[in-house]
Amino acid sequence: MPEFCDVALPVPLDIVFTYSVPDGLLPVVGGRVLVPFRQQRLSGVVTDLHDRKPKVATKNLIGVLDPAPVFDEQLIRLGQWIANYYLAPVGEVFRTMLPLGAEFKRAVGYRITDKGQMALHLAGMSGSSARSQKTPEDQFVEFRVLDYLAERGMTREESLRAAARAPKALLAGMVRKKWIAREDLSEARDAARMVKVAVLKSVEGRLNANQQTLIDTLAAAGGKVPVDVLQSLEIPRTTLSTLAKRGLVDILQEPAQFAVSGLKPRPRLFDFQFNPAQQAALQSVQERVNGRNFAGMLLHGITGSGKTAIYLAAMRAVLEAGRSAILLVPEIGLTPAVAADLHQLFGEEVAILHSGLSDKERAEQWHRIKRGDAGMVVGTRSAVFAPVSDLALMIVDEEQDPSYKQEEMPRYHARDVAVMRAKMANAVVVLGSATPSLESYFNAKKHKYTLLELPDRVEKRPLPAVEIIDMRQEFQETGSEQVISRRLAEEIEERLERKEQVMVLLNRRGYSPVVLCRACGKTLECNNCAIAMTHHKRSHRMECHYCGYTTPVPKVCGQCGSEYIYFLGTGSEKLEELLHGMFPQARIGRLDRDTVRGREDFERALNALDEGELDLLVGTQMIAKGHDIHGVTLVGVVGADMALGLPDFRAAERTFQLLTQVAGRAGRGQTPGKVVLQTYFPDHYAVQYAAQHDFAGFYDKELRFRSWMHYPPYSALANVLVRSNKLDEALRWSGVLGKWFEKTRHEGIRVLGPAAAPILRLKQDYRYHFVLKSASREKLNVLLRSILAYATEQKIPRTQVIVDVDAVWLM
Ligand code: ADP
Ligand code: ZN
Ligand code: ZN
Repeated sequence: MPEFCDVALPVPLDIVFTYSVPDGLLPVVGGRVLVPFRQQRLSGVVTDLHDRKPKVATKNLIGVLDPAPVFDEQLIRLGQWIANYYLAPVGEVFRTMLPLGAEFKRAVGYRITDKGQMALHLAGMSGSSARSQKTPEDQFVEFRVLDYLAERGMTREESLRAAARAPKALLAGMVRKKWIAREDLSEARDAARMVKVAVLKSVEGRLNANQQTLIDTLAAAGGKVPVDVLQSLEIPRTTLSTLAKRGLVDILQEPAQFAVSGLKPRPRLFDFQFNPAQQAALQSVQERVNGRNFAGMLLHGITGSGKTAIYLAAMRAVLEAGRSAILLVPEIGLTPAVAADLHQLFGEEVAILHSGLSDKERAEQWHRIKRGDAGMVVGTRSAVFAPVSDLALMIVDEEQDPSYKQEEMPRYHARDVAVMRAKMANAVVVLGSATPSLESYFNAKKHKYTLLELPDRVEKRPLPAVEIIDMRQEFQETGSEQVISRRLAEEIEERLERKEQVMVLLNRRGYSPVVLCRACGKTLECNNCAIAMTHHKRSHRMECHYCGYTTPVPKVCGQCGSEYIYFLGTGSEKLEELLHGMFPQARIGRLDRDTVRGREDFERALNALDEGELDLLVGTQMIAKGHDIHGVTLVGVVGADMALGLPDFRAAERTFQLLTQVAGRAGRGQTPGKVVLQTYFPDHYAVQYAAQHDFAGFYDKELRFRSWMHYPPYSALANVLVRSNKLDEALRWSGVLGKWFEKTRHEGIRVLGPAAAPILRLKQDYRYHFVLKSASREKLNVLLRSILAYATEQKIPRTQVIVDVDAVWLM
């Protein structure tokens, strides 16, 4: 065994750490080990085993958590690529890639020191009864702790505190006095969830009716059944224990098996024939997959053109060839109904990874994939790291969705990681969307990706007609600010009479987004952020949508005490109320983050619409994504252009995508659909092209703008943000970095800033930023590396300088 072992640890430092390998331990590259780090124990991933003696003294490994690698060579390389590309510590990257946190149990213990022994000894000499009388209560407890530790040796914190009735602060005080020592006892724990099973041993002897039923059930199931399944039979619980006592049945603990759905894969995939465009697209994907070389493909299909069917068919072919595929979907797409469909299609070979899983469930799924039991993986962002072997196909649905970007360290973009992983695996990557990102469409136009187009909806259903309502004119004609224009009201009325369904989008939740004092002009801002608080009427709270901070609804102005408080603007909660007032007979539902807590809520609302239990569904962008509800013939858009006012170069692209997506919800059934689009920017090209369903037109215009302004896809971009909860510190640090940028040569890189971030204060931090753009990704990467090194030199903590490569938000 080599003498040393390099370990990537989840700490904000861009290096690996070298440890000595003691005799008897057998670490492996790509497996986890437990190591001492500062005062704690950490689990990290072994990146190298070697005999190169480091200059500094090394500590010993504490233990080996995985006898075999959890990362194969490809995933290690992928992790290193991410660390390098996004400038993230490789240990943090590995931790993100491996959802096995549940297998590592944090624990702390204490032992008595020599000094503590001495104190105990001295106290003992003065007589134990005297000790308890003379000493104040705290000291008495201290000796109880010493007594206990002297007798028991190393003891876990919980046991010690319970036995000696010692508060945490007291133990900390004793550590400071060096009477006791604190140690991290964290260790691996068995990840497998255990279940009780009953096993049939013998069927001898006389049985009563209940006992007979149990035995029969066991025999019919092959002799082994989980106990909770038996308990759901209509038999007294004691029956099983009686049988166990008589030795007819054994009750054992076993690792839980993944719930067997009992559903067999469907013999036929779909109950429709693919249209020629679908067939052509599927065929080219399959040809490339069979070619076993890397290929990038962009599937651009308008809303309702049948992209999902292609993904599933391509995955089934991969499954039949005995290889693996990963399908990434945005969070909101993974409803329980979708999961059920996937089980139908792939039976037990599918693993579904979504944010609703507990740590343990996630670990279980990970192990199923790693063992090779599930080769079809469907999941959100982090599923891109699923440990499949023989990856043949990677699919990214709604590839433009911002939820693929992780907004914390490591700030990776799952779509781009998917492309890189496919490259490393000689696999095919398919990016799908009705509204591809400019970056991906640009790559396709430059022939880096093969472009597959589905220009028509299935069964030649028409795209909905879009009518634009100019809300400035509406204001002039009606003399007041309208939320719902006269035209939209008429159209809704008409659908309700015809018993058709309506969706109304307002991309802002809550009741009123602004609370203003008319006397002094102050708006109510969050305590932690430079953001107006939103009024939520039903919960009687003011809420910050950025940090979650809430306060009671003010009755008087906090600034001047005036009672002239006004609630301005409209959110989805108020829109729902308004619509109730206008159409009292209509059944109205609402879909936003206040009404939807989990995947089930989301699905329940959509089902209600699908089953015709709702006439009208109001909601934020949640209602725009991918749902296929045939009864909706009208989509009203009352607020989707707010983003156009934001200082973000992707504002037009996002607005175009949102409008196209929501318009795509109309007319997916037999009756053609219509969209009424209210806007204050009727002439804006994002609005105009969305209304004409003209992706190519929008794309050309937007690309020209990006080219003039040197924005992606014409340059690589990074946002460097400096933050501190002290304003002067944030200012000073951004000044220090700003000077450095002025002094350093960085040819071919544009640096904008320092400037206050559009949201100056967020979650208690003041924020200043730089935007860096360059045609050369390498140069940009080098410059970012030097600025981080300089920041460290200047003692600016690594956690306060955020480098966001390919930033999705510049706010
Ligand atoms: P997209 O993802 O492109 O918006 P979907 O794949 O969800 O579209 O397809 C929309 C609907 O059309 C789904 O209900 C799907 O089952 C159905 N569908 C897909 N392809 C066909 C086809 N060739 N003929 C009829 N229906 C189809
Ligand atoms: Zn006031
Ligand atoms: Zn806030």
